Amino acid sequence: MRYHDSPPPPESASPIPSDRPWFTRRSTLVVAVAALAPACLAGWVLAQVLTGAGRAEGHDAKPPVATGGNPAVSPSAPAIPAAAKGPLTGRTVVIDPGHNTGNFQHTDEIDQQVDIGTARKECDTTGTTTNSGYMEAEFTLDVSLRLRTVLEAQGAKVVLTHEADRPWGPCINERARIGNEAKADAVVSVHADGVSAGSRGYHVILPAKVKGGAADTAAIVEPSRRLGERIAGNFARTTGSAPANYLGSGTGLVVRDDLGGLNLSTQPKVFIECGNMRDAKDAAQLTSPEWRQKAAQGIADGIVGFLGG
Ligand code: ZN
Repeated sequence: MRYHDSPPPPESASPIPSDRPWFTRRSTLVVAVAALAPACLAGWVLAQVLTGAGRAEGHDAKPPVATGGNPAVSPSAPAIPAAAKGPLTGRTVVIDPGHNTGNFQHTDEIDQQVDIGTARKECDTTGTTTNSGYMEAEFTLDVSLRLRTVLEAQGAKVVLTHEADRPWGPCINERARIGNEAKADAVVSVHADGVSAGSRGYHVILPAKVKGGAADTAAIVEPSRRLGERIAGNFARTTGSAPANYLGSGTGLVVRDDLGGLNLSTQPKVFIECGNMRDAKDAAQLTSPEWRQKAAQGIADGIVGFLGG
């Protein structure tokens, strides 16, 4: 039922004012036709056409039938995409693709210091690359777009902090603000690490309890840990990757107090470092589209588990 599954229109574009005159006009026409119908076959035909036009407005899932010259039933009219129903219906998830492929060309801008409450820190960083030059920022955006698709299919409203639609950034304080202003039920910042070869595996970074300036994570420490644990477990299951062998004591979980994106968040939030781009075996996974799909699925499954789906 396309009509009932359609998302509610934005408040600024309520259909009521524009629909009502049409409906009123049609009702008047139907009444007029009905009065003539007993004696007039042409009236009956007209009534059928009007009824068919009513269905074509979206009260029936059948595709509209082209009648030639009536734009209201043109099969080429763009359909309103149906919002998926699922365990995340009514939930908002913000995905933060780490870094930006343009950051390498905008070092002056991303080196600006911003206030993260507990300290001042660079606006953003370039991120790492594999030894063959595949950029972390390409990886994070690709996984984020895949993750958005999976989450939207589960009914979530998804907001990305950027999607290659700006030359650099956003700054880490803006990334946090986007999650806060969206009142996100969960926020995930997607990354891959760049440490020495032989260091392998994923880890999820949880916010430490910090307070200073605009930073106060007391309310998000506990739910963020639950979110992170869910993501870590599901990521391991879908990708087959092991928890990082170079930090986190084999748990795949690390607590940090120096990340502006976490310190400034008021919503449950974690980072995930999906693997080590500087290790050849991890890089072989990170550069595989099939593996990235598994990574996105694992993160999504973790979010669904956290949100009680
Ligand atoms: Zn990163």
